[in-house]
Amino acid sequence: MHKEPKSVFIKARCQKCKNEQIIFSYPSTEVFCLVCGETLAVPTGGKAKLKAYVLEVLK
Ligand SMILES: [Zn+2]
Repeated sequence: MHKEPKSVFIKARCQKCKNEQIIFSYPSTEVFCLVCGETLAVPTGGKAKLKAYVLEVLK
């Protein structure tokens, strides 16, 4: 049985430099801020552990 993960994109704001960036909620690798390199999301095998502010969930 394969369960399709609900893949969504999240508009997040970097806590360090306030850059706004669209990130995937189920990343397979760490997601970094494109501006300052801060970690925004950490993969967990499922839904990412977010380290950035979530501004909006995009579907
Ligand atoms: Zn940043």
